[in-house]
Amino acid sequence: MSTKDYLEKDYYAVLGVPKTASAEEIKKAYRKLARQYHPDANPGNKEAEEKFKAVSEAYDVLSDVKRRKEYDEARTLFGSGVGGFAGAGGPRGAGGGFNFDLGDLFGGSGSGERIGDLFGGLFNRGGAGTGTRTTNARPRRGQDVESEVTLAFGEAVDGTTVSLRLTSSAACTACGGTGAKAGTTPRVCPTCEGTGAASRNLGNFAFSEPCRDCRGRGLVVDDPCPVCDGSGRGKSTRTIQARIPAGVGDGQRIRIKGKGAPGENGGPAGDLYVLVHVKPHPVFGRSGENLTVTVPVTFPEAALGAEIKVPTLRGMPVTLRIPEGTPNGRTFRVRGRGASRKDGTKGDLLVTVQVAVPQNLDDKARAALEEFRNATEGPDLREELIKQARSE
Ligand SMILES: [Zn+2]
Ligand SMILES: [Zn+2]
Repeated sequence: MSTKDYLEKDYYAVLGVPKTASAEEIKKAYRKLARQYHPDANPGNKEAEEKFKAVSEAYDVLSDVKRRKEYDEARTLFGSGVGGFAGAGGPRGAGGGFNFDLGDLFGGSGSGERIGDLFGGLFNRGGAGTGTRTTNARPRRGQDVESEVTLAFGEAVDGTTVSLRLTSSAACTACGGTGAKAGTTPRVCPTCEGTGAASRNLGNFAFSEPCRDCRGRGLVVDDPCPVCDGSGRGKSTRTIQARIPAGVGDGQRIRIKGKGAPGENGGPAGDLYVLVHVKPHPVFGRSGENLTVTVPVTFPEAALGAEIKVPTLRGMPVTLRIPEGTPNGRTFRVRGRGASRKDGTKGDLLVTVQVAVPQNLDDKARAALEEFRNATEGPDLREELIKQARSE
């Protein structure tokens, strides 16, 4: 539907109602005409189909208070012999209106957009389809899609590419989305006569609600499609490759632009959000960009100092020098052996030492330890604590 069409169409005339018609009068007129020209009642009749479309389009605009107002204003400003152009000196037509070529007036093709701008979305709405409602043909962005993936610990640290199977809703392929068994077509709902709305009276109030017999669709299906159970909805599945950046953490959501549901009427695709789960590693932990590891050391190693080998993720062990007198639980930093950062550099490996207490001493070790004890005998280590506890 072009702007020119829009301005030249007299929706009131199409429905056969005066400009001052009430909402109820418009609805009544529409119902009568919709029934008369419905394609199901006129199979193969092109003229009836065109009439039906025109009637639906007219009703779509005039039944909506806001759009009806916009339409009236548009025609007052630009069209059909009302005000506005009297000063332009246009020739008077026989019916008292003005004859002018909208194409000339607005500069020919492409002008529609400019007029469209004046009225916002008014002119972007599409004409009627085979149903009784018009569809909104404005470009629409596709929906965002959610997905989940579970990564091995190392994949999360280094980044990886995963295959994701995405399922989204689409029209049922068996029935083309009509919900009717292949070879049959839905018919106009007799209860609401195709409007999809039913009005209910509650005392002094009447309000409109979706028709119960067709659930607001305006159409009923006698022979439901066995594939979708008459819903008309199906699923489409696609597989995409998604790059998961290095350093992703458990529970993080990654946004992958443009990989969601495709847009409608030329709109952009939605985004894909991937919720990442990371499997724990038997040796390493993660603390942001750093990896963590706890390594056992013997008491002599901690007391005397030592060079110990510590494991790295997917690499050769590195040598870590722990100084004399290292307490249990001290953490050392091995630079550049952690998780990848965004800039390609790496975090650190945090090594925590845990003093291992021997469980099974042989005679020789026991004798040596007893000797060590005797050599280091001093005041009771707890003495100071006990004193403090008492004084408080
Ligand atoms: Zn109905
Ligand atoms: Zn189906």
